[in-house]
Amino acid sequence: PAQPRERLRVAIQKSGRLGEPARDLLASCGLTWRESRDKLFCYGESLPVDLLLVRDDDIPGLIADGVCDLGIVGRNVLVEHGLERAAQGRPADLTEWRQLGWGACRLDVAIEEQQEWTGPEQLEGLRIATSYPRTLGRWLQEQGVDAEPVVLNGSVEIAPRLGQADVVCDLVSSGGTLRANQLRPVTTILHSEAVIAGPSGTLDDGRQEIADLLLRRIDGAVQLKESRLLMLRVARSDLDAVGPLLPAGHEPTVTQVEGRDEVAVQVLVHGPVPWAKLEDLKRAGAANLMVLPVEGMLA
Ligand code: ATP
Ligand code: MG
Repeated sequence: PAQPRERLRVAIQKSGRLGEPARDLLASCGLTWRESRDKLFCYGESLPVDLLLVRDDDIPGLIADGVCDLGIVGRNVLVEHGLERAAQGRPADLTEWRQLGWGACRLDVAIEEQQEWTGPEQLEGLRIATSYPRTLGRWLQEQGVDAEPVVLNGSVEIAPRLGQADVVCDLVSSGGTLRANQLRPVTTILHSEAVIAGPSGTLDDGRQEIADLLLRRIDGAVQLKESRLLMLRVARSDLDAVGPLLPAGHEPTVTQVEGRDEVAVQVLVHGPVPWAKLEDLKRAGAANLMVLPVEGMLA
């Protein structure tokens, strides 16, 4: 039996796209660490929360084996792990504890740029290069298409040019990498973002309590990051027109502007406030529109 462990261990990506944002998120939760010389382990100082810096592919396995308690990883990696386990006839062991709202990307099927796309049937009998064979396999099955996954662990997008595959199924955010390889995305099989992965059950030895504390802080940090303060001024006579256009959020605070028949409105908004929204408000009579980031919040 494993030794009791009173400290929480969180696996994050050592480098790559999710490493720095993951560390930033945990730092914004008030965590500080002392780094080991090899920079693979960070000992938590402010809370008993240690970090293990690894390759993202290893994160589900480390949690499944109980080496780590939680991990910050792309949903794409977690889903593939779950499907692999299911294929081995084993029960699901990990779940998504939280979604974090960053690290967004899609797992897309992409074909040669000049080729026409008529639908999934067109993939019948083709070789599809991917690092996500189980996720692709599930989708192909749902589509009733029989194709051959070619598993590559990197440089998936050059496989068609090398003659290793006919099409690819790869992670895409802007599509720039695909375009550079004369490929174009035609259909999305998974929407991904960074998530907190953890075991399906609860943690032992008092670590669940530490995890609960950390998750509460993460929830606060994520909410804070998505919060913005929208401020504007409007003539009293236009308030009825502007009010319904305000983005959904908390109840607006409306204050009389000294010496004018005008009010200042401020409202806490969740999520981005697009330009089009500001333009709508302006057209309805709002002026001095401002969107401000929120640094701290305590209800
Ligand atoms: P590692 O060395 O840790 O194995 P990696 O090369 O496998 O790194 P990255 O390219 O750093 O991984 O991507 C990590 C995660 O970032 C992906 O699994 C995915 O969830 C997310 N991601 C976001 N946008 C993209 C994108 N455009 N391409 C690839 N991954 C993306
Ligand atoms: Mg990887």
